[in-house]
Amino acid sequence: MRRSHHGVTQSLKREIEKTLILRETSSASSSSARTTSSLSSKSFLSSSCSPSFFNRNTPITNGVRGKSVVVDDVIKTLHRHRRRHLLASSAHKHEEQKRGAATSAKSAQFSNTFGRRRRGIATSTTTTSFLVGRRNSLQNEFVSTTSSRGGSKRAFSSSNAKNNGVNQPFGKEYEIIDHEYDAVVVGAGGAGLRAAIGLSEHGYKTACVTKLFPTRSHTVAAQGGINAALGNMSEDDWRWHAYDTVKGADWLGDQDAIQYMCREAPEAVRELERYGLPFSRTEEGKIYQRAFGGQSLEYGKGGQAYRCACAADRTGHAMLHTLYGQALRHETQFFVEYFALDLIMDEQGACVGVLAMCLEDGTLHRFRSHKTILATGGYGRAYFSATSAHTCTGDGNAMAARAGLPLQDLEFVQFHPTGIYGAGCLITEGSRGEGGILRNSEGERFMERYAPSAKDLASRDVVSRSMTMEIREGRGVGKEKDHIYLHLNHLPPELLAERLPGISETAAIFAGVDVTKEPIPVIPTVHYNMGGIPTNYKGEVVAPAKDGSDPDRVVPGLLAAGEAACASVHGANRLGANSLLDIVVFGRACANTVKESGLKPGQKHKPLKNELNGEQSVKRLNDIRYNDKGAQNNKSTSELRKRMQRVMQDDAAVFRTQETLAEGCMKIDQVAKEMESLHVTDKSLVWNTDLVEALELHNLMPNARITMHGAEQRKESRGAHAREDFPDRLDDTWMKHTLGYIEEKDDSVKIDYRPVHHYTLDKEMDVIPPMKRVY
Ligand SMILES: Cc1cc2nc3c(=O)[nH]c(=O)nc-3n(C[C@H](O)[C@H](O)[C@H](O)COP(=O)(O)OP(=O)(O)OC[C@H]3O[C@@H](n4cnc5c(N)ncnc54)[C@H](O)[C@@H]3O)c2cc1C
Repeated sequence: MRRSHHGVTQSLKREIEKTLILRETSSASSSSARTTSSLSSKSFLSSSCSPSFFNRNTPITNGVRGKSVVVDDVIKTLHRHRRRHLLASSAHKHEEQKRGAATSAKSAQFSNTFGRRRRGIATSTTTTSFLVGRRNSLQNEFVSTTSSRGGSKRAFSSSNAKNNGVNQPFGKEYEIIDHEYDAVVVGAGGAGLRAAIGLSEHGYKTACVTKLFPTRSHTVAAQGGINAALGNMSEDDWRWHAYDTVKGADWLGDQDAIQYMCREAPEAVRELERYGLPFSRTEEGKIYQRAFGGQSLEYGKGGQAYRCACAADRTGHAMLHTLYGQALRHETQFFVEYFALDLIMDEQGACVGVLAMCLEDGTLHRFRSHKTILATGGYGRAYFSATSAHTCTGDGNAMAARAGLPLQDLEFVQFHPTGIYGAGCLITEGSRGEGGILRNSEGERFMERYAPSAKDLASRDVVSRSMTMEIREGRGVGKEKDHIYLHLNHLPPELLAERLPGISETAAIFAGVDVTKEPIPVIPTVHYNMGGIPTNYKGEVVAPAKDGSDPDRVVPGLLAAGEAACASVHGANRLGANSLLDIVVFGRACANTVKESGLKPGQKHKPLKNELNGEQSVKRLNDIRYNDKGAQNNKSTSELRKRMQRVMQDDAAVFRTQETLAEGCMKIDQVAKEMESLHVTDKSLVWNTDLVEALELHNLMPNARITMHGAEQRKESRGAHAREDFPDRLDDTWMKHTLGYIEEKDDSVKIDYRPVHHYTLDKEMDVIPPMKRVY
């Protein structure tokens, strides 16, 4: 593999040189272009041929037109090469199988080929090493050498390290590269990219750290669309949208945040249109909007709303690519395939940066930032059957939990009614929006009984529960009578081809079904995490003061957006197509909040106390790599992960009881305890998927545990949390957010609560009082 990379690199170099020379000659008359390439093509290539170069950041593109043109050509060349190389490589397939569909085998190739350049991206001032003996105690001297990248390279003295709790033998030298940014965004899904675009637009030097190549983030898989009261299909009002959202959330949503999101929605969609998102259109050329679950007109009295804007059934794909293009345009600096390990917090509890590992070569990168935005997505993979990518492992949530911050409302896990039976792949709600119908083994359209007016388009928790009831009562389909049929075969084939091409293909591949002729076998499947890192509507992370005095206390320096966050617009149940909206609205809100905070671009960073410099996180990494309890006792990531997923699937399911939940708590804590025996076989730091999966499992675990414990303690039914023993919603006791902590002292789960915001931002919207939720 290595050899072939060299091969590519050589021919690549030749082609780039050719391109540059061509450009230089052809634009010799343009002085701006000449300035650009005052770097000769050779020096350009050799002078670190920096990742910055590939990522189009500063020295080359810096706003000079001629420069950008040259860089564009070079980037195209790189992409051409990458494509060719990928086709040729069989190792690629192997990697893909190993990491799962949505992970980045492709990017691994990409990374290996271009990563060396990327590393130079670092505006690295210092290179530090935690230099430690292989199995010995820490080195004692303070070494100072000159690094190949021109920065100074240092080794921590042991006294330093020991005093700071790093007193176990490390297995390797950990090289640390320092970076300074105004803001760092962790995650390059829709939320991360929108935040990064805004921050760069406001003039902040912004880094976007992502474990996946940006366009491989789970946002890419979103099918159905994005809600906004554009009024393109009928009269509409954002207040009606807000009403539906409050009701969908089963009155656990914060109404100020819901007002903010729904009011901003039309502008957010129009902004995406301006960015170039190829929306589906009506005859007159307006953005087409389809029906989606839980959407109504006139505060529930005007019938079904057509509010969901889409790009066929590939809306997330279109959105993510559009946003990535914009982020590049705005000079965000990308650190692609860098795995964020932990937040760096100062002695006042403010977030001052993040520590990440470059997956390509194992170097550690310490990002100092005035503002850190977590946009790391959900943790669907805590469950056995989920529509989310294998990379949705709640890393940001776990980073917050390890920093002593709470996670909010994790017990609310959405089951999507229509995951393909067996495979778990999603069939969008848009299929029912376009006229699809659910039927049981008797051919009955049973949703008419459970939700007489909304029928198949009742909100997701309602449909999932109704399906589960049908199966329980013996009216499931198939040999085992354990699933339900989704019929699209009564719809015109042209409509399916135009509006639902993606899911037609998915059904053919994963269920062997021709949707024009047969029904699709479906079953409720874990789909979305309503809970996450608590934030206010501005995206600032909140954590109540220790004495409980201020439930909305802001954590300085830390913001969060997207599925990782819980601004609490979705409350106890998210409405379909409200998440793509959430990610763009709150991604943007984060950027605006940073601006409003008065942070000046280029502001100096305060020096960090030594013990707060990320060593704890390096120790954690080292412990995970070298953990060895002996052949008899060691357990693999896949074994423990499967057990965790089974417990979650069985005991924190669509329907829950005290018995299953109490047992679930015991079992999940037991699996968590056994993480002590988690053994990583591959010790390397170079593109080590074994290590990455172990780190991800460590991140999934606090999410899984807090979900189970929160559910056990919440003795009512609300939204997605359906307790058979407490079938009613009990507002007097339970209209409050759950906060789950992992206690540092004994690794136990602690549950606490904070009030729901039962107020709006201003007079433009009235508070929607709690009422019975019927569809
Ligand atoms: C199959 C499917 C279909 C959906 N369809 C719709 C729909 O039609 N409409 C709708 O509104 N919603 C839909 N959703 C939900 C919605 O797509 C997601 O909630 C949303 O896209 C999440 O976006 P995000 O930016 O928060 O996270 P993601 O898109 O998941 O991105 C997470 C990012 O974080 C990065 N990351 C994670 N951990 C680390 C780490 N440790 N270090 C560095 N980087 C890290 C990843 O690289 C990635 O870039 C769907 C979800 C699924 C699974």
